Amino acid sequence: MTLQLNDASLLKYQAYIDGHWVSADNGKTLTVTNPVDDSPLAEVASCGTEETRRMIEAANRVQPGWAATTAKQRATLLRDWYNLIIEHQEDLARILTAEQGKPLSEARGEILYGASYLEWFAEEAKRLYGDLIPAPASDKRLMVLKQPVGVVACITPWNFPCAMLARKIAPAIAAGCAVVCKPASATPLSALALVALAERAGAPAGLINIAAGNSKTIGAELTRNPLVRKLTFTGSTAVGKQLMAACTDTVKRTSMELGGNAPFIVFEDADLDAAVAGALAAKYRNAGQTCICANRLLVQAGIYDRFAEKFTRAVTQLNMGCGTKDGVDIGPLISSQAADDVYDLIEDATHKGAKVLTGGSRGTGSFIQPTVLSNATTDMRVFAEEIFGPVAPLFRFETEAEAIQLANDTEFGLAAYFYSRDLSRIWRVAEQLEYGIVGVNEGLVSNEMAPFGGIKYSGQGREGSRYGLDDYLELKYLCLGGIDA
Ligand code: NAP
Repeated sequence: MTLQLNDASLLKYQAYIDGHWVSADNGKTLTVTNPVDDSPLAEVASCGTEETRRMIEAANRVQPGWAATTAKQRATLLRDWYNLIIEHQEDLARILTAEQGKPLSEARGEILYGASYLEWFAEEAKRLYGDLIPAPASDKRLMVLKQPVGVVACITPWNFPCAMLARKIAPAIAAGCAVVCKPASATPLSALALVALAERAGAPAGLINIAAGNSKTIGAELTRNPLVRKLTFTGSTAVGKQLMAACTDTVKRTSMELGGNAPFIVFEDADLDAAVAGALAAKYRNAGQTCICANRLLVQAGIYDRFAEKFTRAVTQLNMGCGTKDGVDIGPLISSQAADDVYDLIEDATHKGAKVLTGGSRGTGSFIQPTVLSNATTDMRVFAEEIFGPVAPLFRFETEAEAIQLANDTEFGLAAYFYSRDLSRIWRVAEQLEYGIVGVNEGLVSNEMAPFGGIKYSGQGREGSRYGLDDYLELKYLCLGGIDA
């Protein structure tokens, strides 16, 4: 792979198992492609059942020792790893843009966002407090200890290949768990580079293992193997459901960060310029390929035309191009197939009466023009499906009750947004939206200090924040008797 890096040794093409970089047992590789034109970028070891089993066994061997480390030792590893990511952030961003396609400015943002979870959980590791419970008898003392859940399997998607992995490994390591990771086949290089820096930071052999490869065979071993005590997954709802079902046999804990269908509601009393800026940020980041992207823009009738005009004007100013070029706002989608799928959604909407206000055409390769559709209706696929592309359908509503009904009319429940300046409405609407995350007069909501996660078919569990360690811990109740008064 030809990529100008300050430190070319960050490019890894092998799996990392028990402290060694290794090829697949059968020598197989998978091809990582450039999203701009689907041309081959690199060959990466494509592992299967046996390599996955070895990763799990290696993790299981170090598990008791890592669980016995002090919080300070765990925090130090995370902090040293964080510092290395900061030192190599430009190289990591370049690797990310090359395989994922997002503009370099956004890739730099993702690297810092991912690193922020390492910093956060380095700090949280030291606050992993237990509890002392008032006893029912004077000769007893009751306590709750928090202990690591055990070996954790992490499966991550291609849209944020660095941040999603960091968001899982950091709390696991902080809680005292060893991990086995499978990155998305489209974007393994970012994940492997991150793990290369963990190795440099001094992670002991077996603590962090990673292999790309056939998702079905690796997934089957990760879910079936009883040594794995927890699976944390970020990806589509369809795959998440399969993995949850597969984990029942060995009664594993699961955390699921799944798909979304975010409503973005603009009420008549909103600050329209702020709403336009918020919608741009919430819709077009990563070319619309984020799970919390505004999927359905619901606009109140009295301001519909004014909002549509201002928003469309702003969208026409977005620059589409290769992520490596300066000034690009919208990169390619992850593949030409993804662009075909998004274009199908545009065609479905226009056949059913949507009007294209800007964009609407299929660029070459994996590009879709930033698009705004007006007159969107609930029978269109864009109402029910996750678009995962730079397409904003505008739906019209009359009343607050109708907006809430439309917003909640989906199986998903990850993120929702609304704009209003009426304090009573803000409370009413925020409380009635069936979502794990609500942005009020704000289009950018993700940060390491806040709990990230959804309800309904968007998943279970929370990542980041002071709640983020809970998913990696078991509670142990200790009853101490025979205390002389
Ligand atoms: P995906 O197809 O579900 O893939 C996600 C990961 O699961 C990849 O590593 C994939 O491997 C693996 N996988 C696929 N089938 C599997 C199986 N049968 N067993 C085990 N692993 C399997 O999702 P995606 O297209 O990569 O990501 C987009 C989705 O992720 C969207 O729905 C988006 O909303 C969601 N997402 C959610 C969040 C959140 O926090 N809620 C964040 C980001 C993205 P391969 O790549 O090798 O197939």
